[in-house]
Amino acid sequence: MNETPSNVAEALSADPVNAPAPHDDPRHGCTNCGRASHPVTRKTLLLMLKPGTFDRVGEGEYRFCSDPECRVVYFTESEDQTFTTEDLRVRVGLKERTDPIPLCYCFGFDEADMREEIERTGQTSIPQRIAELLKQKMCACPARNPSGACCLGEVTKAVKRLIGNADNADSPAR
Ligand SMILES: [Zn+2]
Repeated sequence: MNETPSNVAEALSADPVNAPAPHDDPRHGCTNCGRASHPVTRKTLLLMLKPGTFDRVGEGEYRFCSDPECRVVYFTESEDQTFTTEDLRVRVGLKERTDPIPLCYCFGFDEADMREEIERTGQTSIPQRIAELLKQKMCACPARNPSGACCLGEVTKAVKRLIGNADNADSPAR
């Protein structure tokens, strides 16, 4: 493993404006699944939604649901209104299980890239490559990522899951 939470924190602190860390707050549960969420700007919302949905965007504060099993992406607590994965122009990687599964929206890495590298080498350089670009302030998460926040947390989860799967595949079947 070549990525640690402290690397992630260091990279995020390098550019908190363009790569904000997602602060999922359990006190603001998704109105569909009840899980923790974080706020997104109206700009992020309009950059992600299909134009046909714009008339439904209200004045309330919108939040992003990070639960992988929940199809709701954005919701408002004040108006009990939701937008689901179907309402977005982009695929929300953390809510998808079939390719293409976007991991990093700023630089275009998807889960298949990482899976291929791990199958070939047992490792992945993708978190380091993203962290390096982030330190150079090259990312644009609020405009690119439907969560409006940095992808590195989700990227780190994907590394753990894919390396775990690779280990399981190597062990003899019982
Ligand atoms: Zn939800």
